[in-house]
Amino acid sequence: MVGLTGGIGSGKSAAGARLAELGAVVIDADRIAREVVAPGTEGLAEIVEAFSDRVLDADGALDRAALGAMVFSDEAARRRLEAITHPRVRARTAELAAAAPADAIVVNDVPLLVEVGLAPTYHLVVVVQTAVPIRLARLARHRGMDRAEAERRIAAQADDARRRAAADVVLTNDAGLAELHTEVDALWHERLLPYAANLRERRA
Ligand code: ATP
Repeated sequence: MVGLTGGIGSGKSAAGARLAELGAVVIDADRIAREVVAPGTEGLAEIVEAFSDRVLDADGALDRAALGAMVFSDEAARRRLEAITHPRVRARTAELAAAAPADAIVVNDVPLLVEVGLAPTYHLVVVVQTAVPIRLARLARHRGMDRAEAERRIAAQADDARRRAAADVVLTNDAGLAELHTEVDALWHERLLPYAANLRERRA
């Protein structure tokens, strides 16, 4: 399994989408993290038990902003929350990976892969790296995120030097999508396919 990460707005999802086009099975950690706390799940029930129903919005769904405010500067609370969510995300990820065809290249898109210390759990870690001013511009243009909010989120994550230190492969996404696709295609053909073939040979 390949770990794919990068800072907010770096282009992880864009790289993951290209890998999916090439034939990878892409597992999106953010999406799973939302699924395991969706209304009606055991995950959400445990969060309410731990943090009270103040973490629910009027529709009974998780109010991420309210929960975020409760754990933002409270390390113990954050750990309590992670003890509820992380095992569920891991179990669901393993389930999806096991359901992939035996010869599939599975790519796990995990925004906080480096921060959570998951790099050693992957065969290969791919980091998408983009200069901060470009990320700020893309987040503003495509997501309407204001500059102060984007800067705050970037500051809360690992910086690119730390991510690079955990990376086996670094993709640069400072230019257009066509250039990103060229880099991803090279990664696929020159690294991932040979790596997977080699692994299969050694297992045979
Ligand atoms: P997050 O951590 O928030 O999930 P991400 O790293 O997955 O972010 P993307 O969603 O892939 O980032 O990219 C952020 C935005 O920038 C998207 O709207 C995407 O379409 C756009 N984008 C990504 N790469 C490029 C590029 N090379 N040129 C122009 N736009 C791009």
